[in-house]
Amino acid sequence: MSSFNPNFSLRDLLKIAGGIVGIDLLPSASFAQRGADGKPLKSPLPAFDNDPIKVTELEKNLYLLMGAGGNIVLLTGADGSILVDTGVPSRGKDLQKTIKSLTKQPVVTVINTHFHFDHTGGNETFGTAKASIVAQEETRTRMSSPQTIELIGFTVPASPPIALPSLTFENKLTLHRNNTTIHLTHVPPAHTDTDVFLHFQAQNVIHATDLFFNGFYPIIDYSSKGWIGGMVYGIDQVLAIANNDTKIVPGHGPLGTYAQLLESRTMLALVQSRIEPLVKAGKTVEEIVAAKPTSDLDEKWGKGTLNPDTFVKDAVMSLVRHMV
Ligand SMILES: [Zn+2]
Repeated sequence: MSSFNPNFSLRDLLKIAGGIVGIDLLPSASFAQRGADGKPLKSPLPAFDNDPIKVTELEKNLYLLMGAGGNIVLLTGADGSILVDTGVPSRGKDLQKTIKSLTKQPVVTVINTHFHFDHTGGNETFGTAKASIVAQEETRTRMSSPQTIELIGFTVPASPPIALPSLTFENKLTLHRNNTTIHLTHVPPAHTDTDVFLHFQAQNVIHATDLFFNGFYPIIDYSSKGWIGGMVYGIDQVLAIANNDTKIVPGHGPLGTYAQLLESRTMLALVQSRIEPLVKAGKTVEEIVAAKPTSDLDEKWGKGTLNPDTFVKDAVMSLVRHMV
């Protein structure tokens, strides 16, 4: 069983915030990465702050770490450990402790798959420990100023310099470390405009980042140019280098397969094909949500991070912003 709890959702957050379930925007909240007490502030999804970190060995020297935010991958070896994503701000020390239980090799390189706080929150911890941080160049740009994810009404302040990526790239980067080749590929705006997926060639493992929420509706961050058509296109880039034996790490949810990623792609393309004509016909967000365009899909996909109405709103908003 995965330690990820797909039942934990924005609805829980809404309860905490005293808000209303549904398509209304959540009350705006602003969090500093550190509070007045100097401690990392809480993430908007409490499970990220509290779940135990669960370790799965994917292949020799390659691990999946779940429970501290977005899914994390660790490659160990004589060249030093490489960490893909760093969870939410409150979990940096927990992650360090978990990694020490797996290897004596310190983390020398951190790779961020995109700028979101649940994938970069531990950067400060590892940057302070002298790891170099690698990401797509827009990740550094976005982390350098406050960023608001409008869908969840959450604002993250600028990151301290020690947490910023120090090595950035535009489209592709290849690392040759620990007897494997790691291909980093940036896709055009999809979940955000900073998304990078990784292919560990020797192990046939892919980290698909938040292009892939395995088994439930994804968040599409239209505040940073994410859009549903880009999600489909981005997933196609991942599928193009995968096969039936590839282990595909989603940004959220349990370890996945080619078939599961394809299923997610098929669902997104179907939803796009249903709502895009409505957007182009000038229907409002409220009208499209009320039309329940995903009603036959909701039983399977609508029990995760986003409820069906919020997902439809997200997908519609992403199309509206993309078409502007
Ligand atoms: Zn994300």
